[in-house]
Amino acid sequence: MLDDKKVTAIMEAVDEGFDEQMEFTAHLVRFPSVRGQEQTAQDFMAKEMTTRGLSVDRWKINVEDIKDLPGFSPVDISYENALNVVGTHRATRQKGHSLILNGHIDVVPTGPLDKWTTPPFEPRTENGLMYGRGAGDMKSGLVSCLFALDALKRIGYGPASDVYVQSVIEEEPTGNGTLACLQRGYRADAALIPEPMEGTLMRAEMGIMWFQVQVHGDPQHASGGQGSGVNAIEKAFYLVQALKDLERDWNGLKGEHPEYISHPYPVRFNLGRIKGGDWTSSVPAWCHFDMRVGFYPGWDLADVRAKIETCIQKAAHEDDFIKSNIPTIVYNGHQSEGFVLKNADEVEGVLGKSHKAVFGERLGEFSIPGATDGHFFSLYANTPALVYGPKCISSHGFDEAVDIESVRKTTQTIALFIAHWCGLETV
Ligand code: ZN
Repeated sequence: MLDDKKVTAIMEAVDEGFDEQMEFTAHLVRFPSVRGQEQTAQDFMAKEMTTRGLSVDRWKINVEDIKDLPGFSPVDISYENALNVVGTHRATRQKGHSLILNGHIDVVPTGPLDKWTTPPFEPRTENGLMYGRGAGDMKSGLVSCLFALDALKRIGYGPASDVYVQSVIEEEPTGNGTLACLQRGYRADAALIPEPMEGTLMRAEMGIMWFQVQVHGDPQHASGGQGSGVNAIEKAFYLVQALKDLERDWNGLKGEHPEYISHPYPVRFNLGRIKGGDWTSSVPAWCHFDMRVGFYPGWDLADVRAKIETCIQKAAHEDDFIKSNIPTIVYNGHQSEGFVLKNADEVEGVLGKSHKAVFGERLGEFSIPGATDGHFFSLYANTPALVYGPKCISSHGFDEAVDIESVRKTTQTIALFIAHWCGLETV
């Protein structure tokens, strides 16, 4: 048990290191760690973990090692630079519960740079916000794990149980970075992922599936008029519409999922990318479109695929051309099941108590229409995963930013959480 004096000391220790924490965060944002280019940011994290006395495990993910595990998502890019980094704190004696602190280093692409007020990888602080791609999702959260440990050390303590700080890649497209940590044997009594949750606890996340539909056409000269050629791009629009109808149907099922019953529209089918055609005056011979679909926790991946394929086949058979030129469906990227955080009263209670000490109010909860790496721990390692972190503005958008005060407070909560959950020993 922490007495009030120790609680105050831990919170003040976070404050003392907070300027340095935000400088560190800005430094990390400067690494443009989009997919396939995470290695320099990971090198920096490995160095900082070593400086802090953590024992560092830095390894290249081998697809062969993880490809047959539940939760694996297929990839079509090279893993040549796919480096995970885990820093381990070993307690002198195991007195409390062990803990995984997990955050992703990868960020999504910026989109057109001229839409950003200032360049996305040159962080800027203004009106209590730090702007930059990854500032909110989720480098500030990842950094808060290290600085929560720093705060404990500043007042002479370390966790009285093993703590693993995982800086993972590939959260945005697959989750294979966290899966690789499980494959490597990392386990603990609980996991905490400081994704930007505005200081609430994530109760549930949706499943996410990515797929590409490859639509065929019949290329003819564009001047051939009606009846000459078949436009693959227009046929793709037709299939997208059928999928959007399925999206509406799945939203109609939210009443069967208590975590999402009050969400206005939890299932999102996002037409994320589309490519097609070769020449403006030729009827397009091909069109490939990529979709991200959300689905409810508890739904099986094979069933979701079957539902998507049935939807496309049904639409195909109502179209004279498509029914004899059936599109190909390719699954690449997220094949991620959803989950609901359950049977985690003890660890939730510890987080709730820590949050209340900082915020002065009860810990709220929220079920997100997106996904995190939380499901890996819950579904495949029987480990409760708490997703809790600061407030992000415009996640994945232009001028992404993190609310600095929310970073300070959630770091205080995380430091208290570590102290309560793991216990403390003098260092
Ligand atoms: Zn994230």
